[in-house]
Amino acid sequence: MKFGGTSVGNVDRIRNVARRCLATQAAGHDVVVIVSAMAGETNRLLGLAHEFGEIPDAREMDALAATGEQVTSALTAMAIHQLGGQARSLLGHQVRVVTDSAFTKARIRTIDGSRITEVNKQGAIAVVAGFQGVDDAGNITTLGRGGSDTSAVAIAAAIGADVCEIFTDVDGVYTTDPNVCPLARKINKISYEEMLELASLGAKVLQIRSVEIAMKYGVPVHVRSSFSDAEGTLVTSEDKLDRDMERLVVAGVAYDKNEAKVTLREVQDTPGVVARIFGALADKNISVDMIIQNVSSGAATDVTFTVAKADLPRAKALIAEIGPAVGMKDFVVDDSIVKVSIVGVGMRSHAGIAAKMFSLLAGEGINIQAISTSEIKVSCIVAAKYTELAVRALHTGFGLDRKDVHEEPAT
Ligand code: ADP
Ligand code: ASP
Ligand code: MG
Repeated sequence: MKFGGTSVGNVDRIRNVARRCLATQAAGHDVVVIVSAMAGETNRLLGLAHEFGEIPDAREMDALAATGEQVTSALTAMAIHQLGGQARSLLGHQVRVVTDSAFTKARIRTIDGSRITEVNKQGAIAVVAGFQGVDDAGNITTLGRGGSDTSAVAIAAAIGADVCEIFTDVDGVYTTDPNVCPLARKINKISYEEMLELASLGAKVLQIRSVEIAMKYGVPVHVRSSFSDAEGTLVTSEDKLDRDMERLVVAGVAYDKNEAKVTLREVQDTPGVVARIFGALADKNISVDMIIQNVSSGAATDVTFTVAKADLPRAKALIAEIGPAVGMKDFVVDDSIVKVSIVGVGMRSHAGIAAKMFSLLAGEGINIQAISTSEIKVSCIVAAKYTELAVRALHTGFGLDRKDVHEEPAT
């Protein structure tokens, strides 16, 4: 059972979490709870770090950010005690969630489930701090924003849990963010593949790594509300889906405001130049999403790419450093962009979906700045101010709107 930031946002909510965990235990289950930091806490901590420079030391960032989850794991254990239950908190290094050393976006290598199962064997609830791990050298690491989802699924896989329940502030995975589009519909079941695309394209309800791990180890994930008992969304393999799902060509719409666009103007148009630029970014562990290189009209060309906003300060410093060597005139950054995407396994067998997306955006007067496609998704970069407009237009245009807002949403 994983509870996100809003679900542990104050002491009453932590009590609610404790009650739910005890009820699940009373129903005959062994319970492992994974908790996030209280809502807003991780942002507060990262804000404090930035008081000490634009690029604070990554190791210390993780030492700092991990404290948010340390607080909630201890408080949740106390709340369970107060209700007469037994519980023990465990931090990432106590479980032994071993990660690589990529601070602020570490990847889990191994998890030792024995501390957790030991706690369960004694009849107690294990309360694990999400988001954090430890590297081989004993440094505290964190798994990237939203990383508690990944802690939860990875722990579920490590201990062979029957199900990984993700309790959050919405009652499941919707066809798009219900906070942006009031006509979004709850999806009863979704495939790992589609969830993976939605997550990678910005639907922050599940962190992308958590879906990768769930898919790899076949962990059934149930996304549901921490404020009601309603059934949520089951994330599962494609063959377990209802036939009905297959009718939908586009299963969902996602948006991501966490990217920034960088344009290098007039770099040399000769072999090896882009390799040099992107090699340098990769060496610094900066992931690049979209890349556009214009056809050059002479010896120079413009290269545009997008990176996570969190990596922008480091990317800027690097481009300023290597730019002269590739003949770059200058570079411009635009961080007022959003990536809007449509996702659906049904796209594999349908033509004209991208064209329809472009015309829906054009119909709203929205200019497209960059495009990328894969077998089951199409993404467009547009100005951030059009986020709501673009998401709603695509949601309506691809027939995803709920028919009646008073009706129970159907798949
Ligand atoms: P938690 O703190 O519980 O981890 P998050 O804020 O990380 O919660 O994720 C839940 C949020 O994800 C929702 O409040 C919603 O705004 C957003 N979201 C984005 N896309 C979707 C979607 N397709 N379905 C449901 N929620 C979505
Ligand atoms: N507290 C961390 C964050 O805000 C991890 C999480 O909530 O999943 O990113
Ligand atoms: Mg989250």
